[in-house]
Amino acid sequence: CGIVGYVGGQSALDVVLAGLKRLEYRGYDSAGVAVLADGGLAAARKAGKLANLDKVLAERPLPSGTAGIGHTRWATHGGPTDANAHPHLDNSGRVAVVHNGIIENFALLRAELVERGHELTSETDTEVVTHLLAESFSSTEDLAEAMRQVCGRLEGAFTLVAVHADEPDVVVGARRNSPLVVGVGDGEHFLASDVAAFIAHTREAIELGQDQVVELRRDGVNVTGFDGSPATVRPYHVDWDVSA
Ligand code: GLU
Repeated sequence: CGIVGYVGGQSALDVVLAGLKRLEYRGYDSAGVAVLADGGLAAARKAGKLANLDKVLAERPLPSGTAGIGHTRWATHGGPTDANAHPHLDNSGRVAVVHNGIIENFALLRAELVERGHELTSETDTEVVTHLLAESFSSTEDLAEAMRQVCGRLEGAFTLVAVHADEPDVVVGARRNSPLVVGVGDGEHFLASDVAAFIAHTREAIELGQDQVVELRRDGVNVTGFDGSPATVRPYHVDWDVSA
């Protein structure tokens, strides 16, 4: 339902949580965050409102992080439980994915993954992406390239945002038939399903086109097609008024 990503000098956890609050108006049944910190990945997720997630974070605080992703879920595959909430992590706990939309061919992909020894722990269509990304990353060692490979295998409508502990300064996003916008800051970048999530930080935005992958770093953004071809980006200025 709602997606936020961040890389930069602020606390990634704080930026992502504030972004999710900005997207609350869309409605959701679960929420979660993942941050990259100290060479690892830390995540928390919870069914129910963001207040429930805040409670989890109060009991078990996460590091602030240099990069992070967050999600508010509107369940399509699997009920609104803690285990189905995003982010979804792979079995090594080093890659985390959030997803809006539906992966139509997830059952086939899931069967292949189980055959190859992956343990899937949710009922979502999303979780297959996490495991496929982990596999592709182990051969490419490049999260954006892994995302391009995985997107080539997916059918349906999706916005995906992912982080990997082995690339601590990178957030990667992808989209097909579902919105994703980049926020361009000074030494920091944002990703969101809706500019409302980052408007408090920047009004410089780039709308991603159909079938594109974006690699976000503190000091730059690289956009390509799913096939790796360089993409023409469309920067724009968000000039509508924001109250509150
Ligand atoms: N299909 C995914 C799920 O059910 C994502 C739903 C959403 O867009 O929030 O977990």
